[in-house]
Amino acid sequence: MRRITVLGATGSIGQNTIDLIRRDPDAYKVVALTGGRNIEKLAHDAKALHAEVAVTCHPELLGDLRAALSGSDVEAAAGDEAICAAAARPADWCMSAIVGAAGLAPGLEALKQGQTLALANKESLVTAGPLLLQTAKAHGATVLPVDSEHSGVFQALIGEDITAVERIIITASGGAFRDWPIEKLANATLAQASSHPNWDMGQRITIDSASMFNKAMELIETKEFFGVRPEQIEALIHPESLIHALVGFHDGALMAHVGPPDMRHAIGFALHWPARKPLPVTRLDLAKIGQFSFRAPDEHRWPALRIAREVMEAGGLSGAVFNAAKERALDGFIHGEIGFNDMSVVVDRVLAKMSAKNGLQNAEITLDNVAMTDREARVVADEMMQRLG
Ligand code: NDP
Ligand code: MG
Repeated sequence: MRRITVLGATGSIGQNTIDLIRRDPDAYKVVALTGGRNIEKLAHDAKALHAEVAVTCHPELLGDLRAALSGSDVEAAAGDEAICAAAARPADWCMSAIVGAAGLAPGLEALKQGQTLALANKESLVTAGPLLLQTAKAHGATVLPVDSEHSGVFQALIGEDITAVERIIITASGGAFRDWPIEKLANATLAQASSHPNWDMGQRITIDSASMFNKAMELIETKEFFGVRPEQIEALIHPESLIHALVGFHDGALMAHVGPPDMRHAIGFALHWPARKPLPVTRLDLAKIGQFSFRAPDEHRWPALRIAREVMEAGGLSGAVFNAAKERALDGFIHGEIGFNDMSVVVDRVLAKMSAKNGLQNAEITLDNVAMTDREARVVADEMMQRLG
């Protein structure tokens, strides 16, 4: 029986992971499930899956969690440290599906125990890619990508030599505002930005898809995970979201990863890797689909893509600044403090201010440095938002 932990179990990726685990209950022993505010779902799944422990990141919700788990054998715990402790419990496989920079520390704990880390939390690679991969190496652990594009690249590279790779293309649906006139974007509302044409995901990543900050993060994620140069990585608009990624080799061949927009494919691939097992996803009828379309992304419409290139070139702690500024700007948009286009303005300004002052490029990427930089960038982002608001 494989011992499994799911970090961010109450979220979109977490629930898809649990769906796969439930289909084959005898194959897995669930060690820990973690969540946030959704205590009811956390307790329900922890009881149904006979988890050893359920953890919420909110200490003030510990009483509610205990009450919801009463009568079961599941332990209750709360707080960021308890999440790290849960991740450090002996397990074979850990799903990293917390949203935001909070996913980094528990993922590192899992890696220190030599676990296989299925990484949906792209923020871990954006803020601290080298630290994450070095930790995995030092402890004989494995990191497997779960982001659909990166899972696609990983699969296209099986049996290939990374030195034969010329370029990596990750696709983007274009999000909610792909076909909007550019001048309308400034007035885009939260409800409009929160609906994705193809994927059913958590709210934050859905808005990040509309602003293309999600793709910006994924460009950085590609550089960090596959160790390629920024100029080898491209984003391509593909409205159907059926081709997730393409790998171009020196001989001119392009290997594409094609599949339905269902995260259970990438999650299931990481769950069963290195084997492939049947998964409950729709099989594509290509004759019915008829055609795939593509277009180049417009960096005027989506400044996030340009910012990602600057961050990739700068390296060091600029990814941590970028992510923290983006997270605060997204909070600001969600709470109606700033407009849709202001998100990229805030991120640009925070990066400009902190790069000039801190020499981010040459700083060492440690967990402490990342946490400190993250805190500082959030404060600077709040200042910038006040000026805009
Ligand atoms: P959701 O918002 O649906 O879920 C996030 C999970 O993290 C929930 O369990 C939430 O708890 C928990 N959580 C929120 N804040 C914290 C915190 N500060 N500390 C600990 N736990 C916290 O997100 P998604 O499932 O959509 O995304 C998860 C990650 O996967 C993100 O990094 C995202 O970019 C990435 N990803 C997601 C994809 C998708 O299809 N959804 C595709 C590719 C990548 P609660 O809800 O109980 O408050
Ligand atoms: Mg993705």
